[in-house]
Amino acid sequence: RFIPPLPKSSSRSKYEKVDVKEEYAKRQGGKDKINLVVIGHVDAGKSTLMGHLLYQLGNVNKRLMHKYEQESKKLGKGSFAFAWVLDETEEERARGVTMDIAQTQFETPGKIVTLLDAPGHRDFIPNMITGTAQADVGILVVNATKGEFETGFESGGQTREHALLARSLGVSQLIIAVNKMDTVEWSKFRYDEIVKKMSTFMKQAGYKEENISCIPCSGLTGDNLAHSSKEPLFSSWYKGNTLVEQIDKFIPVSRPVDKPFRLYIGDIFKGMGGGISVTGKIASGNVKQGDRVLVMPAMELAIVKGITINEEAVSCAFAGDHVTVVITGVDITNLNIGSILCSTDVPMKAATRIRARVVLFNLELPMTKGYTVVFHYQSLTEPAIVKRLVSQLNKSSGEVIKKRPKCLTKNTSAVVEIEFERPICLELFKDNKDLGRFMLRNSGQTIAAGLIEEVLKTKAGDE
Ligand code: GDP
Repeated sequence: RFIPPLPKSSSRSKYEKVDVKEEYAKRQGGKDKINLVVIGHVDAGKSTLMGHLLYQLGNVNKRLMHKYEQESKKLGKGSFAFAWVLDETEEERARGVTMDIAQTQFETPGKIVTLLDAPGHRDFIPNMITGTAQADVGILVVNATKGEFETGFESGGQTREHALLARSLGVSQLIIAVNKMDTVEWSKFRYDEIVKKMSTFMKQAGYKEENISCIPCSGLTGDNLAHSSKEPLFSSWYKGNTLVEQIDKFIPVSRPVDKPFRLYIGDIFKGMGGGISVTGKIASGNVKQGDRVLVMPAMELAIVKGITINEEAVSCAFAGDHVTVVITGVDITNLNIGSILCSTDVPMKAATRIRARVVLFNLELPMTKGYTVVFHYQSLTEPAIVKRLVSQLNKSSGEVIKKRPKCLTKNTSAVVEIEFERPICLELFKDNKDLGRFMLRNSGQTIAAGLIEEVLKTKAGDE
């Protein structure tokens, strides 16, 4: 309806033709790409486990590791060295330095795994939600130590909450890493006990049996991470997969490379030769040099002049890629962080009101009609208002418990209507798993995670 005509000067013929399917197959190099989130109770050993795993896979250089070891010895905390592998990345991120990809990406024989939101914080829940909202698969770390597993698992512990949250955010495959096996003398009895409790709970939480697996290990000693354990007490009874072997077994997730193109802009800067460079992750579809794309919500047409991935020029890029795209034909003032580049064939809608399914966390005050929130969506943060409480749902089955509730308290599940001050380009969860998720925050706290079910009003008026 609103697509401006193609400017005459920009003929596509000067760009070489790209066979998208062929190019994609070539790029994958026979490996699947997956996004992994690591969750679990505080002190379960998440950072140590992942740090040690990255080290064993050769993703952390020896000199750096030595430095960490020296520093942590000085502090009398020898075992912290591995956790620092991940903390370093966090720190770099905070300073805005380009992430050292090698530290957050690793490979198994069949997979390229991106580790989302390295856990290094005390304040883990908001962090965890951001990561989980982008994750395909997860590792839930539980602590095998006597009494510690129980603490994490009981009410108030984060093991259950994280497992439920991951499920509600669409993470359907989980490995349960039964960690710190060194603290229980590698006991088979203890491992079996934990597996039994976790399996029952995971089933109740809505996971399918075939999508859950358990791996005993120790992040500290490094047993059963990338290599089978040589510890006799352990290897005498455990003949199963290592953690890395199990990660390799995750069922591949299909990238929406054939879906309409969408890129959420995370950063903008003046590019070379008069163009504008934008960076972001391609959320769906693909983009080729020479493509006409639409900048939303400004509704301006742009031409893609160049694409780079990790500073390397490519002729096309796909869903899941972090890219820099040089575009021309648009005024930089029409571009904002949170703006979108999308296909002209299937442009995105700019919604002002949506209906969503939400899971509420720790609310100080119950949510009522008119509750103000900050809507976190991709690279965007926007003020919004909860306009209607449609229904309250059973947390695990999703059935309606109550229609039009007066208020919603913490730890409940519900359907609500949310209104924005400005139009936001978004997508339904049923059309795109990644773009159909959001978070709500209030007074600096993450209060809910949600899935977009329907667009009720658009920029142009009612649907
Ligand atoms: P996180 O909060 O889940 O990231 O946990 P950390 O990785 O920071 O670990 C918490 C504490 O448990 C630290 O003191 C670690 O040294 C210790 N720890 C982590 N993994 C293991 C393990 O496999 N065995 C033992 N004995 N201690 C561990």
